Amino acid sequence: MNDTRDIDCLSRLTMFSTIYIEAKIADHPRTREICDRFPQATRVACKRYGEVFNPKSQNFRLQKRKPALILAHKHDRRVLETPDGYGIGGPANYYFSHMLNCLYDCRYCFLQGMYRSAHHVLYVNYEDFGTDIDAILDKAGNEPCWFFSGYDCDSLALEPVSAFMQHFLPFFAARPAAHLEVRTKSTQIRSLLKHTAIPNAVVAFSFTPAEIHASLEHRVPAIERRLEAMQTLQQAGWLLGLRFDPLVYQDNYQQQYARLFAQVFSRLDTDRLHSISLGTFRLPRTYFRNIVRLYPDEPLFAGRFAESDGMVSYPAELEDEMTGFCTRELLKYVPETVLFPCMLAA
Ligand code: SF4
Repeated sequence: MNDTRDIDCLSRLTMFSTIYIEAKIADHPRTREICDRFPQATRVACKRYGEVFNPKSQNFRLQKRKPALILAHKHDRRVLETPDGYGIGGPANYYFSHMLNCLYDCRYCFLQGMYRSAHHVLYVNYEDFGTDIDAILDKAGNEPCWFFSGYDCDSLALEPVSAFMQHFLPFFAARPAAHLEVRTKSTQIRSLLKHTAIPNAVVAFSFTPAEIHASLEHRVPAIERRLEAMQTLQQAGWLLGLRFDPLVYQDNYQQQYARLFAQVFSRLDTDRLHSISLGTFRLPRTYFRNIVRLYPDEPLFAGRFAESDGMVSYPAELEDEMTGFCTRELLKYVPETVLFPCMLAA
């Protein structure tokens, strides 16, 4: 295992040397708390965060080396319905992102194709997200609703700064009809361990095989460290999920995934796994093109791809083969009831 890629989130945080602060939340207590953590950082006031985040002339790849932190207010479209086909069995599914962008640097990540900037935007008005979730719950009556966090970021990677879970765990604990998925590749589980496990939250860890992790998931904690974190959470009573998404093709993908599944299921109590989802690599066409422009020499993008309905993905027969193989392998360890294929953009 390469320890240099197993960089702890906290040590990376010392790299925030610039913090942009949107005028509307300049006096927000969360803004002050976060700024106090980085006394050396240069603070730059801005009217709206888009002035910093959206300009066209930015280079995502260069910014990714030394991203700034942008503290902002999320005005609208805070909690949105997920696209069809996204979910883990619940009748009503929504997603929300308290952050844009990620500390990690996965070469297949759609965020690189979606945003012009690699700076980290953190929306500090968590209370407004909560108000919107409550409005959805009110409308749904007593029907259960799922809320997926970590759609435009990693839910836990910046937890020591964002205190996102610290805020939202008590919120969801008080609302049993609201189910939370926390999706992560991080080992930042301290906030979770400080809180009693709640039955309506699932902590979902994403994995690719060791070979893919080594070549494509830069700065992501090692597989073993994530499994240790999962074991610790499982022992503390937390419900866990596994996300094998994206499934990435390499000539020997069958051996790679068979080895990964054997490793994962040797460490976890499979009777207490909430859900497993899997989906082959796919991206909206424009994002795919943007990413190829950023990394023209990346072998991942030189593979066999097909375009359909604005999406770039493996050809259908390869998708079926990979999904079929991985499903059969997974069924050696878990019942079909916990498996959920996903056919949408990762
Ligand atoms: S961990 Fe997820 S959000 Fe972060 S870079 Fe990797 S794929 Fe993107």
